[in-house]
Amino acid sequence: MKIGILGAGQLSRMLALSGIPMGLEFEFYSPETENCVSSLGKVTVGAYDDWAQLNAFASRCDVVTFENENIPFETLRDLDEKTVVYPKAKAIQQSQDRLVEKTLFKLLDIPTVPFRAIESRDDLMAFIEEVGYPLILKTRRNGYDGKGQYKIESINDIDNINIIGKTPLIVEKMINYNREISIIGVRSQSRDTAFYDICENQHVNGVLHKTLNKQRDPRMPLAKNYLTKLMNELNYFGVITLELFDTNDGLLANEIAPRVHNSGHWTIEGTVCSQFANHIRAIAGYQLGATDSHGTYEMINMLGKVADPLEVLSKPHQTFHDYQKTPKPGRKMGHIVTVLKI
Ligand code: ADP
Ligand code: MG
Repeated sequence: MKIGILGAGQLSRMLALSGIPMGLEFEFYSPETENCVSSLGKVTVGAYDDWAQLNAFASRCDVVTFENENIPFETLRDLDEKTVVYPKAKAIQQSQDRLVEKTLFKLLDIPTVPFRAIESRDDLMAFIEEVGYPLILKTRRNGYDGKGQYKIESINDIDNINIIGKTPLIVEKMINYNREISIIGVRSQSRDTAFYDICENQHVNGVLHKTLNKQRDPRMPLAKNYLTKLMNELNYFGVITLELFDTNDGLLANEIAPRVHNSGHWTIEGTVCSQFANHIRAIAGYQLGATDSHGTYEMINMLGKVADPLEVLSKPHQTFHDYQKTPKPGRKMGHIVTVLKI
């Protein structure tokens, strides 16, 4: 069986690295000229509307998946007619727009932060009247790693933002939380589900810095309940992640990532079947593998440059992942996993 992946970054790399031992073959399609996967299968460089190239790619793949939810909906929908795309394009559509996503949380009775769509300065002033400062203004589409976000603490901040009315925006109340957590789950084509430990995440400047998995976290039952509702509503196949704020008033949903997630990288070392292996199993039509963790793991992202492997690997309980990217400030270059307890 050949699996096609849209995108050729580190998530595609780790998906392929987990599927190759199962005897699966991989092929990649990406608009970027640089990639982390050339040693793992054929790479086509092409735009997401280059149908000559996309059709040829689809004709060689039994099933297509993706590493990034910002791929145009139309591309996923039309590819699904040429071959099979999992997760389904409709599931992705819901998470491409922060307003649609937060409206879905409300529909499913999943508590979220106070929010409103912003088309004008008047919309923003009306929201401030209701909830006060501080706020966070976000582009509805195409944001990731804190990009396209503006913190608003006073009227002066509003005067400095020049995108209001020019692009679809959402504003949220900036809330106080005790922890940021994520739950990663997987749903198979036979509708079985499995979940990994709650991940406790620390962000620096909107980018994930560190993750710790928490065995038997008290928030697990509720987080699982919310993610199950989402998986069922979206009739989801594959791995999906829900990011949540843990507050004094309970859990608040922040966002969905309809894919494998940076906070789940520890599952490669920490479980029988990693998030990557389970995503592949789900989309290939296999049964799910066990998600129980062997212990407690810490994952640290290497941003901007990779550490010296000689030093990292001098500690026997550390593993080293180098995505083989060209260094750029703030770029996710690799990660280190440390076994804290087994
Ligand atoms: P991205 O798609 O960039 O991950 P997020 O909505 O997850 O976007 O925002 C990135 C980070 O910014 C979050 O992980 C959190 O640390 C902070 N953040 C986002 N929204 C809020 C909010 N409403 N209140 C408090 N912190 C927030
Ligand atoms: Mg996020």
